[in-house]
Amino acid sequence: MKAIRKFTVRSVLPPELSAVGELVANLRWSWHEPTRKLLAHISPDDWEATTGDPIALLGAVSPDRLTQLAADEGFVAWANSLRDDLNRYLSEPRWYQAQEEPKPSSIGYFSPEFGIAAALPQYSGGLGILAGDHLKAASDLGVPIIGVGLFYRAGYFRQAISRDGWQQESYPVLDPDGLPLSVLRLADGSPAQVVLALPDDRALYARIWQAQVGRVKLLLLDTDIPDNDDDLRSVTDRLYGGGGEHRLLQELLLGIGGVRALKIYSELTETAEPEVFHTNEGHAGFQGLERICDLIGEGLSFDVALQVVRAGTVFTTHTPVPAGIDRFDASLVERYFSTDLLPGVDAHSVLALGNEIANGGVAGMFNMAVMGLRLAQRANGVSQLHGEVSRGMFAGLWPGFDQSEVPITSVTNGVHAPTWTDPLLIELAENKLGTSETATANWASPDVTDDDLWAVRNDMRRQLVFDARHRVTEAWLEQSPGSIPPAWYRGLLDPAVLTIGFARRVPTYKRLTLMLHDPVRLKSILLNPTQPVQLVIAGKSHPADEEGKRLIQKLVQFASDPEVRQRIVFLPNYDIGMAQKLYPGTDVWLNNPLRPLEACGTSGMKAALNGGLNLSILDGWWNEYYDGENGWAIPTADSVDTPEERDQLESEALYDLIEHQVAPRFYDRNAQGVPERWTQSIRHTLSTLSPSLSAERMVREYASRLYLPAAAAAHAVIDGDYSVAASLSEWKERERAAWPSVAVVHVESGGLDDTPQVGDELQVRARVNLGSLTPDDVSVQVVYGHTTNGDQLADARTVALSPAVLSTATTPITVVTPDGTAAHSDAEGLYGFSGTVVLEKAGSFGYTVRVVPRHENLASSAELGLIAAAR
Ligand SMILES: *Cc1c(COP(=O)(O)O)cnc(C)c1O
Repeated sequence: MKAIRKFTVRSVLPPELSAVGELVANLRWSWHEPTRKLLAHISPDDWEATTGDPIALLGAVSPDRLTQLAADEGFVAWANSLRDDLNRYLSEPRWYQAQEEPKPSSIGYFSPEFGIAAALPQYSGGLGILAGDHLKAASDLGVPIIGVGLFYRAGYFRQAISRDGWQQESYPVLDPDGLPLSVLRLADGSPAQVVLALPDDRALYARIWQAQVGRVKLLLLDTDIPDNDDDLRSVTDRLYGGGGEHRLLQELLLGIGGVRALKIYSELTETAEPEVFHTNEGHAGFQGLERICDLIGEGLSFDVALQVVRAGTVFTTHTPVPAGIDRFDASLVERYFSTDLLPGVDAHSVLALGNEIANGGVAGMFNMAVMGLRLAQRANGVSQLHGEVSRGMFAGLWPGFDQSEVPITSVTNGVHAPTWTDPLLIELAENKLGTSETATANWASPDVTDDDLWAVRNDMRRQLVFDARHRVTEAWLEQSPGSIPPAWYRGLLDPAVLTIGFARRVPTYKRLTLMLHDPVRLKSILLNPTQPVQLVIAGKSHPADEEGKRLIQKLVQFASDPEVRQRIVFLPNYDIGMAQKLYPGTDVWLNNPLRPLEACGTSGMKAALNGGLNLSILDGWWNEYYDGENGWAIPTADSVDTPEERDQLESEALYDLIEHQVAPRFYDRNAQGVPERWTQSIRHTLSTLSPSLSAERMVREYASRLYLPAAAAAHAVIDGDYSVAASLSEWKERERAAWPSVAVVHVESGGLDDTPQVGDELQVRARVNLGSLTPDDVSVQVVYGHTTNGDQLADARTVALSPAVLSTATTPITVVTPDGTAAHSDAEGLYGFSGTVVLEKAGSFGYTVRVVPRHENLASSAELGLIAAAR
């Protein structure tokens, strides 16, 4: 019989075990190995059976066992000391506290998904895991972030694979009472709610779940409450579930509802409201509009409010392809904003922010990334290469500027080391290097021998092999309950064989099946009698992506061939739990996307933190971190004509690398059976890559390069009761209106003889028309560098010229600028500027002169997208 309602009854702990309750209430248990050991000790079998979910564990463990533990003084003391350690972690000053003021006292971090622990499945892939790692590292560093997201009743989907290899999705409904969450309540005990006005006089209500991620609070909005009409209860049903309107509702809730939830939270807890808002991808972009609406409520105009909001906003883009960007029909957006949703904000201003025509888009579409960039003064991609690709992708918003000047920087992703480092490796670091901080431990030290390293790698590989056997057995039993799994499952994979891992979502560009390009060759590699190879593969295809499902099927069918089935396996339902065994257990992590479509890729980083070597196309993070010793680069054949040819060439390169480089190095053993050359690469990887790949490095970069400057910019514009924002807004308007007349009219140079040498000084003089602007409003610059492709400037640098009286046929007239400095315009109304450039390098040299806007509240001179270059 089917239950019509279900809920979770939480266990009551004996008072002696109150420390256990406190430890479980903070998700720090998910990455704090000592706490996990304590939890496992409560009941090893239940811990195993609940796949490390403490709330489920406490529900499953027998009351007798709890009574027994409550009477066990050793256990109680152990729990208490861990509780004290947690309290210290929560209160002691950390990295951020040592940073100089001014710094933001709170930062709102918005993301459509958060992957924190297998026990809180609110993620689909890389974006969510990254957000989870961001919160964890922020906690470790003491960065005062508050996370904001949605609570999905069914999370993403659970993947099963049918006998014929077809992906099947199911959506087990989560009960928040069984999760590490609590409802945010008002002083009177009733649940706090946010409400959004919708068209047709309807309203969308959401309650706010809170999760404690170490020092960081995470707020998740949930519409599945009785106050909502039935159709609106399902707004937060699934992650990336419906399209169009359903998705728009989710994003309105995330952005607008998210800011409202932050306000309620700050009021209730008397903590500071965020000064900086960071949106992880465009989905949460509406947050900026809610903040504009608030400021309009305080009496500001839309344009002035926009200056304030931009100053304090950071936008991170994650996709290198236009197809990956979130877009809506503009008419749909217009319908939602022609209501009381945001009083004082009119729909046309909203539509203008998401208009993508300037970037080569189409009319009638509302583009969330374009809005994200217009609402944020600071933006970034997620690897150096992705930064470059993003600058190209959005160059249309800053017309006239070289791609390199498009104001989108990059912060390369990182991964949270304590979450992603196997406990066996942590143990090795503790025993031999005296630290549990594997990311910064001195792996080059002789205190860790090659034998030690090799032994731990063997153990982690063996652990993966057993985990894989267990998973396929469970999956079989799920498909055919009561039947007996095939006997060969017990010999699936070999703990001694070179293991290559490949797991990720299955969009076409990631090329799950590239390895199958030449099945005969792959077979011979897997079955090589002296240097065999085995492959462990996993990944989910988006439910609507039939092509992705066909790729999975192709792979599963290949893997079921009796000849090779013990050497290649597809593991269903890739998730954090599986990933934590997979990355440490693989010797080589394979990644073969179509370059440059992998924005960063983080799974390879997690493998590297465990001493795994990467075998990857030079894309995303690998493009900047591959050094010839930490793995292998698969050459990219992006100059060929057809995708088929490209696959052909790149797959052959992949086979060649495995056969001639990877396998020989792995199987080249010394007398003790240790592959010295390989171990050297492991050591090199651990000692050189780990610090840079850790999420702490990433969050420190976000803090110092983006959050602190954004907070300073926000402080500056709200100065004088927003008068700075008002004058900035007015100045921008003046600048835009005047710009059509701005021109470099005349350029002349001197100072060089016929054969210029390094060290010589080039003198440049320019006369410019500034229309109604004054020299204070602009920067007149010489842009110079090497010339390539005829007259293109490479590695261009700029030098600002200064206002100057130039001798011309006509008499100069002195004009006094508003701040009192004298500038000069001649009888034709032109201003003179001059300066020098030192020739620093030999070779071809070229320069030009340009005018760009200048204002102390701009973060970049490209910001307004206005430029007038000499012609
Ligand atoms: C790290 C991770 C991802 C993202 O990996 P990419 O290399 O960025 O594709 C996806 N899913 C899980 C479970 C992960 O742990």
